[in-house]
Amino acid sequence: MPRNLKEYTKKRNFKETTEPKAVKKSSATKTMFVVQKHDASHLHYDFRLEIDGVLVSWAVPKGPSMDPSVKHLAIMTEDHPLDYGHFEGVIPEGNYGAGTVMVWDIGTYENIKTINDKNISMPQCLKQGTIEIILHGKKLKGAFALIRTHLGDNEKNWLLKKIDDKYASTKDITHKEKSALSNKTMNQIARAGVLYEK
Ligand code: MN
Repeated sequence: MPRNLKEYTKKRNFKETTEPKAVKKSSATKTMFVVQKHDASHLHYDFRLEIDGVLVSWAVPKGPSMDPSVKHLAIMTEDHPLDYGHFEGVIPEGNYGAGTVMVWDIGTYENIKTINDKNISMPQCLKQGTIEIILHGKKLKGAFALIRTHLGDNEKNWLLKKIDDKYASTKDITHKEKSALSNKTMNQIARAGVLYEK
């Protein structure tokens, strides 16, 4: 089934939020990934992969880890438009996901998933619940996996983990806390957002 942005549009009031409107674009040759730090009711990181003209998205409460022994819960959320990958700002109070959004990391990714030496397409990986990718970000580098789990009988629950390679590390990558786009901190983005609204 082709992916669509109906749920994204339904949840938002574009008269109030500056988040991008839902436009489905054809995928470029290089596929994008983005991780947005989102200070909503609960701070989390939104991990998004360009697949089939949209950003397929997971909310990761603990954020990504470079430690291959760590698995972090990643809850699948609605698909977002590709333009969302460059959205940084403040979603106003009373709106869906109200709070500050930072582009914490952005770059391209490669699908490395194979079965019996055959490449598996990203839509197929999604369907099968196993994604293996190499990230070329400013902060996140190397191989990662997303694996669907049945924790709490909820098929929206996946696990994000680092695959062991030369980039693996036990250092907490979330300590790198400035925007990959603007080099701003969350506080700087929050303050700019408030000024913008007035
Ligand atoms: Mn979010």
